[in-house]
Amino acid sequence: MKILKFGGTSVANAQHIKQVQNIVKNLDENNIVVVVSALGGITDLLLKTVDLASNQDESYKDSLREIEDRHIKTIKELIPIQLQSAILSKVKSELNTLETLAEGAFLIAEKTPQLTDKIVSFGELLSSFIISEFFISTGMNAAFKDSRELIKTDDTYGKAVVNFESTNTNCKAYFSNTKNKITVIPGFISSSAKGNHTTLGRGGSDYSAAVVASAIDAEELQIWTDVSGMYTANPRIVKQAKAIPQISYEEAMELSHFGAKVLYPPTIQPVLSKNIPILIKNTFAPEEAGTLIAKNENVLGKSVRGISNVEHITLLSLEGPGMIGIPGISKRFFEVLSQAGISVVLITQASSEHSICVGISDNDAIIAESLVNAAFEYEIATQKIKPVLVETGLAIIALVGDNMKSHQGLSGKMFSALGKNNVNIRAIAQGASERNISAVIKNDDVKKALNTLHEEFFEENIKQLNLFVMGVGNVGSRFIKQIQKQKKYLKTNLKLNPRVIGLSNSRTMIFEEGGIPLEHWEELLAKGEKADRTKFYENVLKYNYRNSIFVDNTASEIVANDYSDYLKR
Ligand code: ADP
Ligand code: ASP
Ligand code: MG
Repeated sequence: MKILKFGGTSVANAQHIKQVQNIVKNLDENNIVVVVSALGGITDLLLKTVDLASNQDESYKDSLREIEDRHIKTIKELIPIQLQSAILSKVKSELNTLETLAEGAFLIAEKTPQLTDKIVSFGELLSSFIISEFFISTGMNAAFKDSRELIKTDDTYGKAVVNFESTNTNCKAYFSNTKNKITVIPGFISSSAKGNHTTLGRGGSDYSAAVVASAIDAEELQIWTDVSGMYTANPRIVKQAKAIPQISYEEAMELSHFGAKVLYPPTIQPVLSKNIPILIKNTFAPEEAGTLIAKNENVLGKSVRGISNVEHITLLSLEGPGMIGIPGISKRFFEVLSQAGISVVLITQASSEHSICVGISDNDAIIAESLVNAAFEYEIATQKIKPVLVETGLAIIALVGDNMKSHQGLSGKMFSALGKNNVNIRAIAQGASERNISAVIKNDDVKKALNTLHEEFFEENIKQLNLFVMGVGNVGSRFIKQIQKQKKYLKTNLKLNPRVIGLSNSRTMIFEEGGIPLEHWEELLAKGEKADRTKFYENVLKYNYRNSIFVDNTASEIVANDYSDYLKR
């Protein structure tokens, strides 16, 4: 059996769902389980609805209407007209229940995690029902099955813990008896032993698919999404990032833990223990190979497999002379955080035991600060420990690779590349497995840091230079011509790839994020904004590009007076 999971973008509208149907239809398999997310954006809309309703904001009705319109439109575009009425009436009845629940939250001006889970479940329930009906209407041998009858959890609403024993029994019993070639199930949703609705956490449809794959010993788990695999870095931040052909379970787990959103981190565990391969594919480019996640020994090659990043991190540092040699301080520190359900993304401790520092999500910062200070009230009052130091607005970047341990100098290369580009490092952690080196930096430096590291480890022969040029007289215009030529003719080992981001003469200046098209620089500059040296300097800082170079092609002493400011940065 194969399990295919399609994410929110893949099922966002009728046109995309037809693409999904094509992929499933072309699969030469007898038994397929199709796990689907809610139509893209619907989960966010449902959460917004509960928030508005519980705040007694009438506009919750607008988001309900938007939810209704999206689903009705999708049905009308997918299902032949003669089959629509039964499907529309079932969907409308579900939408009525949803409306009643939202109205309840409005009337009592309250939302509980239990009610939120109940409401947010409608996203996947509706999408899976509509998609299964569409499959059936095209003559496919398909059926719908409610995954709340298969996946059982505890009652931690919002991110429930799966009870594998009963889930495995349910899945085995159902799938060994089903006669349908294709079973469509909703991702993300589950139910507790008492029968209450629960969910598996944001992004949890990947996990639903993995839980079912493991329960029925599937031969493969396919995750269909909107990019062509797991990339060497977040493709939205690093344009040069490429899909990784093969990667080990452990590497994929590290990359997703540190922010590669393409796979929900808990997804790997259930399939790893059964050695079921995961294939990540692009719904909109199915011909592309994608990424195969498999056992370590089957994966060859590079020392650094990928770079990932998590933004909106807060560092909590506990420090003080009273910490030295007193056992149990870190235990108490971690206990406070875990009892409040706060997950720790990164830990560092100085060897003197003088301080311990953890990275958590910005969302948890305020509550963590007050809980930790309360837990160490006595030590703080007696000045053995300082009140916990809280720094927000940070991010983690991590280099990941199974073979990093057998290569020397990787961290040196990492930190010197960052240092050269003025990226300040607040904390460092390296896992004992040496599969990961992570650094805490400022959120504002993430784009620069990721691009710097990507260039260093994955584009070894290319170096992008970002030029900010002042002066376009005789020397300046010649210079621009040379840069243009150099782009075309460079054939040396190290390919320098210069682009001009900012250009100014004494009258006007222009900036272009991806590089000024140099064929037209004269026209563009003539139409630019009024030249302003201070603003030019501020823009150089604002772009915050790696390998930024200020070029002075003027003969002006005033411009030369700015050098020290540029050099300082
Ligand atoms: P789905 O809705 O299909 O589950 P997600 O939005 O959860 O899709 O995950 C896919 C997105 O993950 C991509 O569009 C991409 O922006 C983001 N992403 C972040 N890091 C990576 C990475 N290293 N490789 C691939 N995608 C990544
Ligand atoms: N629809 C849910 C979410 O947006 C689950 C998922 O798509 O994986 O988080
Ligand atoms: Mg996802």
